[in-house]
Amino acid sequence: MAKSKVDILKEIQKLDSRELKLLSNNIIEILTKSSEQHNQVAEQINDGIERGCPTCGSVSIVRYGYLQNRIRFQCKDCKKTFTDLTGTAISYIKKKHLWEQYIMLMVEGNSLRAIASKMDISLKTAFDWRHKILTAFEELHKTKFNGIVEVDDVWFLKSEKGKRGLQNPRKRGGTNKRGDNNDQAKVLFSVDRSKNIDLTTACMGRIKRKDLDRILGNKVSADTNIICSDKHPSIKSFAKTHGFTHYRIHASQKQYSVGKIYHVNNLNNLAKRFKDFIKQYNGVATKYLQSYLNLFRFIELFKKQRSMISEFYHASLKDKLAISRYSNLEERYQMLIA
Ligand SMILES: [Zn+2]
Repeated sequence: MAKSKVDILKEIQKLDSRELKLLSNNIIEILTKSSEQHNQVAEQINDGIERGCPTCGSVSIVRYGYLQNRIRFQCKDCKKTFTDLTGTAISYIKKKHLWEQYIMLMVEGNSLRAIASKMDISLKTAFDWRHKILTAFEELHKTKFNGIVEVDDVWFLKSEKGKRGLQNPRKRGGTNKRGDNNDQAKVLFSVDRSKNIDLTTACMGRIKRKDLDRILGNKVSADTNIICSDKHPSIKSFAKTHGFTHYRIHASQKQYSVGKIYHVNNLNNLAKRFKDFIKQYNGVATKYLQSYLNLFRFIELFKKQRSMISEFYHASLKDKLAISRYSNLEERYQMLIA
């Protein structure tokens, strides 16, 4: 039977100092937990109110009970209901408590089969989750570049889903003829000296100035950035059109830098690391290439931070457009190869 507060206090007075200390630790623990839960609820409410209705954009919303332990809202205009997770990568996932563990196993480089077996989920679920998570990271930590920006394209042989055949990036700095046919997916690698990285699947075949405009246009400006690249004519054209100071490295003539600071060494190292990274997946369909670029970029950004898993986890809960990008993977692929 529940005791009254007076009874409890009487009991407490009988405790010795060691027991009192233990009890006080227990109470602090309970208090901390309850304030954390309180904060989570407050965060959910703020998030729901801030975003408005994901269907019609109305900000006229009311609380509407709970859905899977999260606060549910209803839009007063279109009557649709939603939670703070609607649209995020995790929104259709039933076993939400496994999400963080999944991310950890993925970042550690476990195969799908290993993840499925360790977590007791099906291979299909493991596959599905991987791509939901990876689309969530596409927009993560995208900022403007600082100072010197190294830019170049790297190609991958086109690969249909399920077939093996991703080729290594061309030998950088070698004498290989630059491949420019439509069986090659071109990825634009851009990296500055503050470790900002952009990896974007640009097009099939030859990369053009308009691809550079689209990918780099709002991330660099001639006032603050200097571009370093190899001899790619489209990068030259991009730099010239927008008035950038541009240093071109002639690696084929054994020239690896202009002065000491203008080079593309960071980019070459990054591309090499990506090549090693992608090997472990034994062939990646072009449709999913961007997803693996996202994962690699994330690991690069956070590899020195111990809080990476937690960052990864929280980022996946914040991106409200992740599910729509995930649903559009096929469409985006068709646009890429069109
Ligand atoms: Zn609405």
